[in-house]
Amino acid sequence: MSKPEPQAPSSSNFIRQIVEADLEAGNYAARNWGGEPGTAETHRSGSTDPARIRTRFPPEPNGYLHIGHAKSICLNFGLAQEYGGICHLRFDDTNPTKEEQEFVDSILDAVRWLGFDWGKHLYYASDYFEHLYRFARHLVERGLAYVDSLTAEEMRAMRGTLTEAGQNSPHRDRPVAESLDLLARMCAGEFPDGTHVLRAKIDMAAPNINLRDPAMYRIRHASHHRTGDAWSIYPTYDWAHGVSDALENITHSICTLEFEDHRPLYNWFNERLAEGGLLNTPLPQQIEFARLNLTYVVLSKRKLIQLVEEKHVDGWDDPRMPTLVGARRRGYTPEGFRLFAERIGVSRADSWIDYSVLEDCMREDLNARAERRIAVLDPVKLVIDNYPDDREELCEAPNHPQKPELGTRPVPFTRELWIEREDYAEVPPKGYFRLAPGAEVRLRYAYVVKCTGVDKDSGGNVIAVHCEYDPDTRSGTPGAEKKKVKGNIHWLSARRAQRSEVRLYDRLFLSANPGAGDRDFLADLNPESKRIVTALVEPALAVARPEDRFQFERHGYFVADRVDTRAGAAVFNRAVTLRDTWAKKSAT
Ligand code: ATP
Ligand code: MG
Repeated sequence: MSKPEPQAPSSSNFIRQIVEADLEAGNYAARNWGGEPGTAETHRSGSTDPARIRTRFPPEPNGYLHIGHAKSICLNFGLAQEYGGICHLRFDDTNPTKEEQEFVDSILDAVRWLGFDWGKHLYYASDYFEHLYRFARHLVERGLAYVDSLTAEEMRAMRGTLTEAGQNSPHRDRPVAESLDLLARMCAGEFPDGTHVLRAKIDMAAPNINLRDPAMYRIRHASHHRTGDAWSIYPTYDWAHGVSDALENITHSICTLEFEDHRPLYNWFNERLAEGGLLNTPLPQQIEFARLNLTYVVLSKRKLIQLVEEKHVDGWDDPRMPTLVGARRRGYTPEGFRLFAERIGVSRADSWIDYSVLEDCMREDLNARAERRIAVLDPVKLVIDNYPDDREELCEAPNHPQKPELGTRPVPFTRELWIEREDYAEVPPKGYFRLAPGAEVRLRYAYVVKCTGVDKDSGGNVIAVHCEYDPDTRSGTPGAEKKKVKGNIHWLSARRAQRSEVRLYDRLFLSANPGAGDRDFLADLNPESKRIVTALVEPALAVARPEDRFQFERHGYFVADRVDTRAGAAVFNRAVTLRDTWAKKSAT
C-alpha cells in the first residue's frame, strides 16, 4: 500500500509496450477497413483503416460508473490518444433485464466529463444482434455449435469440476438441421425461458471450464431498452463481446484480470468466424490488467446499491459515493482523475491503492487551479477595541499565491471581525501560536493584533475575543512586516460576511477495508462523513456559480454544489482537506 512515485506522463507500462511492439511490427497496418463496424464481407472493399490502434471502453448500462471505471476509461482513451488511434465507447447491452436508458445517459456524461471524446464511435452490442445470430447459425452449420435442451441444473451437474472432466450432453450430436430448426424457433419466441440453450461445441474435457461447451444464447422473453421485443434470445457476454470487438476492428481489447481464463474462448469464437470468412483479420487481442482496488471504498455494485437503497447516502450522486457523479459533486476534477490513472499505472499484479493517493492527485490539481477565498467555518467574534467603528479598509488578498497573474481582490477590514473559534485558546497548548490572553497574531493581509480579553456567556463560553491592533503593521505597507509574530489567522468583516451552507464531507468508511473478515461493511460506515455547517464567507463566494472551485484558506478545497447552489446562494462541498489527516488516524 505504498505510494507510487510520481511518474512522467510518458512512462511505460506493459500495455504500452505491447502496443508499441505491435506498431513497430506493423501488426495492424494492413486493415482493409473504412472505419465503420462490419463483417469481413462488408469491409473487404473498404479503404485502409487510418487509425493506428483501436481500443474500446465497454460498460454495461446497468449502473453508474465509479472510480474503477475511470481507470479503464483513462487507459483505453489515453492509449488511443497517445498512439494516434481511436477509442470506441460501446455499451455492452446484452442483458435486457438490468439495463436502462438512465444509465446509458449517465455513462455518456461521465466519459465526457472525464475529458474524452468518442467522436462518431458510439456503439451498442445490441446493434450486432443480427450479425451475432447469423454467425451463430454459421457455427451450427459447421458443426461448431448445437442447441442443448437440458435443464440448467442438468447442465451444471455435467460440467465437471476443476479436477474432473465434464460429460457430453445427450443433445451434443443432434443433427445440424435439428439444431438450426430449434435455434430458429428459440428466436421466434416459441419456447419458454430456460428450455433450450445454444452452446458452442468445443470440449467437455477441457481443463479450462470456460471451454466446456459454453452457452452462446439463452431464451429470455424480456424487453430490451433498445431492441424492444424483437428478440427472445440474448447472447452471453462471452459470445457477444469478442465478436463486437472484431466487428469494430478493435486492435487491443483491454479488460480486467478475471477475464484471463475467458481469453481462449474469446479467441476460439473469433478464429472460427474468421476461418469462415465472416470476420476481418487481424483479430483483436485481449489483454488483461489488474482492476483498481482502493482502500476506504467499496466498488461492488451490490454494495453501492445497498448504500443508496437503504439511504446510508443521499443517492447515487452523494459526494461521498465513489461514483463519478458523486466525485464530480464532491469537487474532484477530471484532471485529478487522469493524473491518478497515470500515477497508479497498470500492471497484472493485484494490489491496493491507498485512498490518499487519489486525494493527493485531487489536491495537486486543485492547488494549481483553485482561487483562494476566505471562509470561517466555526465563527466567533473578534472586536478590535482601538479601531474606529465607522472605518472600513480594503486589504489586498492574492487570488493565488503562486500565480500573481490571477490578481488580487479587496477584502474589507472593520472593527468587528469573524475568526475561527479554534484560533483562540484560553490556555494555549504548547506550540500554539494563535490568539490567547496577551498573545499577538497577524490577521492575514491586515494588521497584527494583541489579545486583551474575552466576553463569556453565563455558561462560560467565549462569545467575543477582544484585541488591539497596531496601526504600523498593515500588510503591504513599508515596514509592516518588521513586527514578527508566529501566528497568522484568517478573518472576515462581520459587517460584510455572508452566510453559506458548507458540507464538510469526509471518507464514507472508517476502515481501510470495509467489511473485512465477516464484518458487515455497513458497520464500518463513518458516522461523521457528512457534517453541515453554516459558515461565514466572503461576499464573492456567496455568488459563486455551480462547480466553481476554491481553496478556503487553511481549510481545504471546496466546490459550489452543482445541484443545490442557487443564484446568489452558493452551497459548498468540501472536496478534500489541505493535508492528509487520515495517515495519522490509521496509524493509531
Ligand atoms: P459488472 O459486474 O456489472 O460487470 P463492472 O464493474 O465490470 O460490473 P462494466 O460495465 O462491465 O462493470 O465495466 C466496464 C469496464 O470497466 C470493463 O472493461 C471493466 O473491466 C472495467 N472496470 C470495472 N471495474 C473496474 C475496476 N475496479 N478497475 C478497473 N477497471 C474496471
Ligand atoms: Mg463487467
